[in-house]
Amino acid sequence: MVPRSRDGYVWENSTGVRPGIETDAVVSPVRSFAGDGTKVYDIIVIGAGYAGLAAARDLSELGHNVLLLEARDRIGGRTYTAKKDGEFIRSSFYRPNVIVVLNDIGFLYEMGGTWVTHHMGYLFREMVRYGMDRDLIETGSPEKHKGYYTLNLPGAEPRKLSHEEAGAMQSKAWDAFVNVDGQFGRTLCPLPHAMLDNPIVDRATVEKWDQLSCHDRYEQIKHTLTTEEQGLLVSLLLHISGGNMKNSSLWDMIRSHALLMHSSDNFGDVWLRYKLRDGQTELAKRMFSDAVKNGVEYSFDTPVTTITQIQDRSSSKDQLVTVKATNNAIFRGRKVITTIPLNVLKDVEFSPPLSQRRQEAIGIGHVNHMTKIHADVANPELERWNGCRLPGLLMYGYSDGVLPNGHVHLTAFGTDERPHFVPEKMPEKTIEALNKLHPMNVKRLIFHNWVTDPYSRGGPAWWQPGYMSKFQDELQSRHGNVFFASGDWAHGWRAAIDGALEQGVMNARVASSEIKSAAQKRVSSRL
Ligand SMILES: Cc1cc2nc3c(=O)[nH]c(=O)nc-3n(C[C@H](O)[C@H](O)[C@H](O)COP(=O)(O)OP(=O)(O)OC[C@H]3O[C@@H](n4cnc5c(N)ncnc54)[C@H](O)[C@@H]3O)c2cc1C
Repeated sequence: MVPRSRDGYVWENSTGVRPGIETDAVVSPVRSFAGDGTKVYDIIVIGAGYAGLAAARDLSELGHNVLLLEARDRIGGRTYTAKKDGEFIRSSFYRPNVIVVLNDIGFLYEMGGTWVTHHMGYLFREMVRYGMDRDLIETGSPEKHKGYYTLNLPGAEPRKLSHEEAGAMQSKAWDAFVNVDGQFGRTLCPLPHAMLDNPIVDRATVEKWDQLSCHDRYEQIKHTLTTEEQGLLVSLLLHISGGNMKNSSLWDMIRSHALLMHSSDNFGDVWLRYKLRDGQTELAKRMFSDAVKNGVEYSFDTPVTTITQIQDRSSSKDQLVTVKATNNAIFRGRKVITTIPLNVLKDVEFSPPLSQRRQEAIGIGHVNHMTKIHADVANPELERWNGCRLPGLLMYGYSDGVLPNGHVHLTAFGTDERPHFVPEKMPEKTIEALNKLHPMNVKRLIFHNWVTDPYSRGGPAWWQPGYMSKFQDELQSRHGNVFFASGDWAHGWRAAIDGALEQGVMNARVASSEIKSAAQKRVSSRL
């Protein structure tokens, strides 16, 4: 039987909205300690998303004793896979006339992070390590070309068109938007993993561009686009940023385009095409399992409230970090890596206090307050459909697989619609929003509200104009013996799985070398 997490929601007509989703990401038992509570760990890792899992596993592999603390009952953070009903097939494991029934596996729904690519270096390394690099499946139907796209945009008649035509319109609009230097950003963001410090472009130039919003850029180029192209572009930008046109930074779009190797030809293939066949949770489980084999101790259901750095009474030079959780449990380590997301950090108390600049960055947070909804619908004609509507509580819908009972699986996305759209409280409004995208007979909804979730308070991080120039270095820096690792301020694939892995791996490496050299010093001072 698949365990049930407290996270996520399922709606069916017969039951209404029920909290909790079946997922193999649940960890049982929730705690595993070898010590008696007085142990001083080499390092405490806070958060069992991809950043925390990478850090805990790598540190334990390097021989350190590690404690992993997580607020939820599961691994994966903003990336996890729900399983629904043993009767179903793997999502998108569809081929014409072939339905592979895998009773033990069930239908897989990615609740957060979904799409992967071999172009994401840190992620590719994990996929290779765990033998998952070839086990990819495609999103949507292989016969998508036989389907259609629907557009319902301001100033234009709603219409049906081919996927090809919609794709061409979107590429034209996106290209106009990101072609800020006549070379599709090549002169401004030649190395997206080194935006503020690379040999090609000086920091002042980048900082100047970083002040612009998506709105600013849109105003510059909208006259080159048709009404439909304008609508498609705005909905795409909001889909990506999860904010609004004025609070979403242009630079993050330039960075994203640079990660596509400066070509919209790669847009679909890199961003929206491939998924892990066995689901994201399978990869996260393999990382967690390695960490546990290496001796990582852990405590789930343990939300951290306070991180305090104190002098170690047994040594005049060493500092300790104590970490307090909501149940008053206290843990001690020589160092801490926190992977708590940007929009959640304001709930944690630090002593000594964080720098003014970091506090300011945390106070502002990021702007992504998107919605992602899975819907199973009794409409076979939607098997090869995608659609876009603006404005709309849900702006995009993608078909993605057929269930053996003939229901089509769709994923829909909306941008920041707080506070008037809270899907778990408003299933009727959610179904209405889906029907505004395209008439459909919704049988089931499965979703996680990342905005109301106290341990994410938003989707993947999208920054405001000027935020990178002012806060990136600070967010990536350490605070004494506390390291900050999160996909929310990664160098390259910020707001992506790869960025989370990057941060976990990089911070673990620095922390490990410091722990080792401090241990050596302690030994030599005793001799
Ligand atoms: C809807 C959605 C779609 C996405 N799509 C994609 C995609 O297609 N491809 C892609 O590459 N990326 C995608 N992403 C982004 C990707 O999922 C994230 O960038 C990545 O998972 C972040 O990992 P992380 O470890 O940095 O943070 P998280 O995964 O958020 O991990 C942080 C962990 O810290 C825990 N925590 C929080 N507060 C506390 C506390 N006080 N005490 C203890 N623990 C705490 C949280 O519970 C969480 O488990 C998507 C994200 C979302 C939400």
